[in-house]
Amino acid sequence: MTDTAQRPASARTRVLLVEDERALLRALAMNLVARGYAVAEADTGAKALVALSDQTIDVIVLDLGLPDMSGVDVIRAVREYASTPIIVLSARSGSADKVEALDLGADDYVTKPFSMDELLARLRATSRRVDAVGDEVVAEIGSVRIDLAMTTATGADGRPIHLTPTEWKILDVLLRRPGKLVPGDVLLTAVRGSSDHTDPSYLRIYFAQLRRKLEPEPSRPRHLITEPGMGYRYRP
Ligand code: CA
Repeated sequence: MTDTAQRPASARTRVLLVEDERALLRALAMNLVARGYAVAEADTGAKALVALSDQTIDVIVLDLGLPDMSGVDVIRAVREYASTPIIVLSARSGSADKVEALDLGADDYVTKPFSMDELLARLRATSRRVDAVGDEVVAEIGSVRIDLAMTTATGADGRPIHLTPTEWKILDVLLRRPGKLVPGDVLLTAVRGSSDHTDPSYLRIYFAQLRRKLEPEPSRPRHLITEPGMGYRYRP
């Protein structure tokens, strides 16, 4: 775990390439880097979910045919907690996979074989949509102002409050769903990439830290609420 959650607004668009054909993965990565994108790579669905939990990703380019799990399952897992745009690479035109992928929340698709220009056009269109919709959520926890887009937390006196990347991931899920119960395993998937084999005290420790940093009275949380046996809730 590193403490480098902040990134400048001018940061390059970060694309996560998920593709198990090595030659294609390499060609895509080289082309995107040459055009100014920052690229992360994964050749399995599991590695893709880990990459998503470890780093800030702006767009996912996802092959539907992966060796360990189907791309459709990757989309399902990602959409549990994140709205990161997904462009699907589909093997056949008109395949049922593609329709299912879009139903589950993929944003766009290209059919193999595709030209680099075609993929780049889809990437530009998707990035524009994201910019236009705006991804910013500003929330308040007591007198602390939280800006999820800028990853800044500011106290009443204007002093910045430092949060770790894991704490940001938890807030990112919770604060985007004000008032809603968020099950513990959804939060765990967001921060760990998986909810399996995780000590139940893991989230408790993070919530204790978050309350210490953000709640007016950490021992009597009013905003970051635990619902015993069920999950967590952000009460504005
Ligand atoms: Ca494949």
